[in-house]
Amino acid sequence: VRMRSLVLIGHGSHLNGESAVAVYRYAELIRQRGLFDEVIEGYWKEEPSLRQVLKTTASTDVTVIPMFISEGYFTETVIPREMGLGHQGPVPPEGVARVIGGRTVRYTLPYGVHPSMTDVILARAREVLPDANPEDTALIVLGHGTTRNENSNRIVYQNADRIRESGQFAEVQALFLDEDPKVGTWPETVRSPRVVVVPFFASEGWHTLETIPEDMGLTGTVTDFTENPHGHQQVFYARPVGTHAAVADVILHLAEEASGAGGPGGDTERGHEAAWQAFLKGARAGLRVGEVLVTPELGVFELRNALDEGRPGADLTTLVTPEGVRDQVRFTDGGEHRPVHTLRNLPRGWRAVLSEADLRRAMHYVYPAVIEETYAHDCHALRPTPWATTARRQTGIYAKVQKATPAQVEHVAQDVCTGCLRTRLWAGHKLTQSFLNGVPGGIPCAEACTFVVAEVREEVSGKRGGGGH
Ligand code: SF4
Repeated sequence: VRMRSLVLIGHGSHLNGESAVAVYRYAELIRQRGLFDEVIEGYWKEEPSLRQVLKTTASTDVTVIPMFISEGYFTETVIPREMGLGHQGPVPPEGVARVIGGRTVRYTLPYGVHPSMTDVILARAREVLPDANPEDTALIVLGHGTTRNENSNRIVYQNADRIRESGQFAEVQALFLDEDPKVGTWPETVRSPRVVVVPFFASEGWHTLETIPEDMGLTGTVTDFTENPHGHQQVFYARPVGTHAAVADVILHLAEEASGAGGPGGDTERGHEAAWQAFLKGARAGLRVGEVLVTPELGVFELRNALDEGRPGADLTTLVTPEGVRDQVRFTDGGEHRPVHTLRNLPRGWRAVLSEADLRRAMHYVYPAVIEETYAHDCHALRPTPWATTARRQTGIYAKVQKATPAQVEHVAQDVCTGCLRTRLWAGHKLTQSFLNGVPGGIPCAEACTFVVAEVREEVSGKRGGGGH
């Protein structure tokens, strides 16, 4: 059987649960097309983390796509470094291919730089002005401009050039929020009576909802700018390109180009499969993993919080899909975002009834990478990364964690990791029994997670309040 895995990488957030949602949505759209055997999400600041995500793929043929609108610090430095791609700097158009631990991994450019983004810009323009024409309509492609983390202006110019050459608009301008030519200069240069503005931005937010309309001098509600105080031009303001469903097509173009149409595919990754078989063997007999209880039930499996053991099913919300489980476990009972899934705050009050295939996907969402890492630990194949190595790797705003004293690191770990199921192998702690041999809380932590790295940074900066979160 030839298998192919697709991994979509997002930024994610330690604080805000909404950050990861766009990547989940695109992963679902691509899963529905059925072209890949699996579509996995990975994040810098959520789990599975960049350090773990390759381990969670089931095949030896993996295509990795950064879900970013432009090239820059994340796509050229952070993602390749954290994923162990042995590459730094600009990614060539054909991508970067590496063999990592028996998997062939192909890393592509971010979706935003793909030429087919031009189609997404045009689709957004048509949504706000279906009868745009070369006689009376101008198009403004609006970019962020160069920032600390991204370099998007070249792509905005390229898209504007392509659309100008196509002759569909009377004039096409590339304008920017943070660099010249600035967005506020549009009344001086754009002459057409009708003006379509398409923000080349990843998502709706402060810039697209407030800064841009303000800088352009637009009045009215955000979705309906048809007048402006500068003259008689009508302005049609589109939604950002990054949230258009057609981005799923761009992702598939990228993936096909990277792996060759149809691709030769790979095999089942043996270590990964062995880990899941070990888990399923336990599940068929009934098993506790961390805070979750897995119970076999007439050909299906039930998952629930172990604290809800014995509660009648009617008292609990019943979930029937891995996605339902995912959305349930992303927040605590108090509604707080859970960037680290092994923190002991799994919500209660739900049960999931799942087939064996869905149980695997649901467990991946409940405890990302936990099955793979624990099995590897039990086979003496999980190598811990000491704090000093993790710290040395950090760049950008996190470089300062290198200054943390061992006492500061331990202080943060005492505070954060005490609430976590995992045992800190990276700090020299030993784990002798795992959930695979009957100790539910036995889960290894091979290296400090990005949440702890961020907390150590706060500690070094003196910004960390004493105890608790
Ligand atoms: Fe848990 Fe601490 Fe490991 Fe993060 S570093 S996963 S909080 S044990």
